[in-house]
Amino acid sequence: MSSPTLPFFDDTDVERVLCVVAHPDDMEYGASAAVARWTSLGVRVSYLLLTAGEAGMRSRPPQEVGPLRAAEQRAACAAVGVEDLTILDLPDGTLEASLQTRKHITRHIRRTRPDVVITQPWELQVDWGLNHADHRAAGLATVDAMRDADNPWVFTDLLTEEGLDPWGAQWLLVPGSPAPDQLIDVSGKPLQQAVESLEAHAEYLAELGGDFSPAAMLEEITASAARQSSLPQVSHALAVQAHRM
Ligand SMILES: [Zn+2]
Repeated sequence: MSSPTLPFFDDTDVERVLCVVAHPDDMEYGASAAVARWTSLGVRVSYLLLTAGEAGMRSRPPQEVGPLRAAEQRAACAAVGVEDLTILDLPDGTLEASLQTRKHITRHIRRTRPDVVITQPWELQVDWGLNHADHRAAGLATVDAMRDADNPWVFTDLLTEEGLDPWGAQWLLVPGSPAPDQLIDVSGKPLQQAVESLEAHAEYLAELGGDFSPAAMLEEITASAARQSSLPQVSHALAVQAHRM
């Protein structure tokens, strides 16, 4: 039995995208392929990382790991044409979808005024297993912050103290969702750039161990998604759950 065909997300009029994730490397398991597609088309893409990922390497202390992972993330961004990277210092491992986190994201949405926001699944159960607590918090806080950003009566000091007008982004896209409903074509160069962006996290991936291949993993994820497309010329795609806000 063949699975149902998914439509392609219409990114024709997209000019600005904001990606909000918990950690360095979270964008690099498929989402950065769509980013590479967009930057090549002249779309301005900004990354907001809520933590520095300082608790991500068991054998090395956070004060060493934070700067190391920031450097790897800058290289990952460069591989897909992203120049605007912000890394906050919220606590890695114990991130919460708190009002403080929402306010940080709201500030960034109002500053960058995106058409599309990308974040992580907030569900506990995702396609690869049980989702990380920080990923769930990042996703949930981003959903709420999109509404906060568009409401002039929420976090009013962002307007009165920082001059940040309300902004309503039109779309929320969630790669890695357990229930994807649209596709983005990343065939060719975008996929190659995405592989480079994941390979940029070299020391982090080495710490995880094993014979992990960024190229093989991204090839598999995106080829599998493309099989849900009706267009035979699309060999690789990113599957997302798309929410019209
Ligand atoms: Zn992560």
